[in-house]
Parts: sequence; structure tokens; C-alpha cells
Amino acid sequence: MTSLGEQVTTQTPPDTAAAVSLRGLRKTFGEVAAVDGVDLDLAEGEFFSMLGPSGSGKTTVLRMIAGFEEPTAGRILLGGVDVTERPPYARDVNTVFQDYALFPHMSVLQNVEYGLRVKGVDRRSRRTRALEALETVRLEGFGDRRPSQLSGGQRQRVALARALVNRPKLLLLDEPLGALDLKLRREMQLELKALQRDVGITFVFVTHDQEEALTMSDRIAVFNGGRIEQLAGPAELYEHPASAFVAGFVGTSNLLEGDVAAAVLGTPGLFTVRPEKIDMHTRDAAAGPGSCTATGVVREVVYLGSATQAVVDLDAGGSLIVLQQNRSVQDQLAHRGAQVRLTWRREHTVEIGGSA
Ligand code: ADP
Ligand code: MG
Repeated sequence: MTSLGEQVTTQTPPDTAAAVSLRGLRKTFGEVAAVDGVDLDLAEGEFFSMLGPSGSGKTTVLRMIAGFEEPTAGRILLGGVDVTERPPYARDVNTVFQDYALFPHMSVLQNVEYGLRVKGVDRRSRRTRALEALETVRLEGFGDRRPSQLSGGQRQRVALARALVNRPKLLLLDEPLGALDLKLRREMQLELKALQRDVGITFVFVTHDQEEALTMSDRIAVFNGGRIEQLAGPAELYEHPASAFVAGFVGTSNLLEGDVAAAVLGTPGLFTVRPEKIDMHTRDAAAGPGSCTATGVVREVVYLGSATQAVVDLDAGGSLIVLQQNRSVQDQLAHRGAQVRLTWRREHTVEIGGSA
């Protein structure tokens, strides 16, 4: 049986084509530029995340890739084929939304089979493929239940199975874990990542949660005001944020700028140092060679169990957040009003390229 997607394919993609290419993609709603010029190439089999605050244009990009939204300008290529003018059903793409959108009156198995039924796949293949998909998401034996008889995490997995059963080349996920509580969310993050590795589908994953993006992704595009502010792997993004926005959105920003930077580092400019890179000592402690150092007073202390976070007002002005692992009782030097010396290795001071 030929799918609709195959019927309208007129070009043969080159072997090396990117799974997804976006070229000068724009979308305006009235005066609002929801997406303001996005260029991207995603590799086959990549776990790619779009990370950014609410309203930064992530969902709109996803909807344009899926074909639910028409671009104001720009092109969309899937596997090297321009699909900009194609309707959603003629793109080899599936989408998983945050609210799952399961049919409540159908069983889990019927929900998973639904897409195949619409495509006219025969009953037997439908059943086989749906059972396979349920197995992939570890829900074998749940086929006869109704969605209402499942937990949030299980419903989420049904939604995934419903997408996977179509064997798409590309899966778009829009905050699919957003409705889950934190513990379940963390479990599902690891499961989803493992699943993606196993099935080898290209994932485009939308989230506003930086930790989620860092945990799961091969690469991350940080969105701000409809544009990509930085595109990098998780470690690069965290260790070398390209702008103050990225430094603040991915992790705790801890900026040193202007006069404070001049006083502490000997150079004016805009710098960041991550909280866990900073050591806190008593004020009379000596800073070793190759270290940066600043004195200050502890303003606030938050005990986090495995670690303690302190906000230190620097004598030079500004403040830094320090995160210390609680390895022993003595480590808990931080208390409000304590006079402290902060030290960190010079290479952990990262100069930020763009301005705020
Ligand atoms: P995100 O998913 O990052 O939260 P969206 O892509 O949903 O961001 O929205 C980006 C911007 O476009 C927002 O300012 C939003 O209000 C606007 N927007 C999105 N969809 C529509 C629409 N259908 N009509 C008007 N404005 C929209
Ligand atoms: Mg959104």
C-alpha cells in the first residue's frame, strides 16, 4: 500500500541530505514576529532540542515543520525534499503534544492503531504493529485499558506509541513531559532518550526546561524572541554560553561585568563563572596562583540536601552564587553574614561574546 506521502514525492533526496533543513524561516501573526529568521540543519538520528522561554517561537517552528502552520517566508526541507507547500499528511512526520490528545472512548490498542486505520492498513498488520509499538514503550499487556485507567506517565507512553506505530522518520515532541510530576518526568527523560537511541528516529524536542534539554539532547538550539541565540551541544552550551541570555537561561548566570569585572579579574567586560566552580573559604585564606579571587559577605544560604547554595555580596560590588557539595558537616561554612573569600580557577571565568 502506498502512503499519501509517497504519492506526492517527486524528487529523490540525495543520500547525505539533512533530516530537517530550515532556511530563513519566518512566521508573523499580525505585528508579532513569532519566528524571525531561523536556519537549521538536523542530522539523521539526532536528538535535537529547541529550548527557550514561553513565547520564544518554539511551538510555531514545530508546527511549521509538521505543516500545521504556513511560513510567512522561508523553506522547509525534510531529507532534502522541499515540503513547504505540502499538507501535514504528506510529510513523513509525527507530532506528540503535551496534552497527549488520546481518544478517551477508545482502548489503548485502538488509540495506537488509529493512525494506521486512517491510512487504510489492514486489520492484521495494524494489530501487529500496534502491539509492537506498545512493547517498545514498555506497555505490553495494557492494550485493553482505557486512557482513564492509566497513570500520567503511561498515557504519555501511549501517545508516543501512537506516533511510533507510523514509523516516521521524524518525530516532533512539544513539551511532551510537561504534565508529569518531577520524579516521573526525570524517569521519562531517561526512557525517552534510550528509546530514541534504540529506534533511531530523528527527534525534535521542544522544552522550556534547561535541565531537560541538557539531559537528553545531542544538540540544543536556544530560542529567544523568535531567533536562535546559540546552537551547541549541552556541555558547550553550559560551559561557553554565547550571550548573557544563554548564560542566564541555561544554568545560573553569575555575571561579572564592568567595574566589578575590572576589580575582580583585572579586565572590564562581561564574564560568567558557574556556581559549582567556585570554592568558598574563610576570608584570610590565600588564593593560589592561577586562581581568581574575590572577598565578600554571605547574604543568603539555601540548604539543598546534597549541596548548599550561598549568595555572596562581593566587596567589589555585585554578587555571585556559590554551590558547594555537602561532603561533610564542616563543608557547611556558609551562614548569613559570614565574611568569606571566593576562589575559582582562571579558566572557569568565561568571557561572554554577545551583550545582554
Ligand atoms: P513557545 O512555544 O516558545 O512558547 P510560540 O511559538 O507558541 O512560543 O509563540 C511565539 C509567539 O507567537 C508568541 O508571542 C505567541 O503569542 C505568538 N503566537 C503563536 N501562535 C499564534 C497565533 N495562532 N496567533 C497569534 N499569535 C500567535
Ligand atoms: Mg510552546
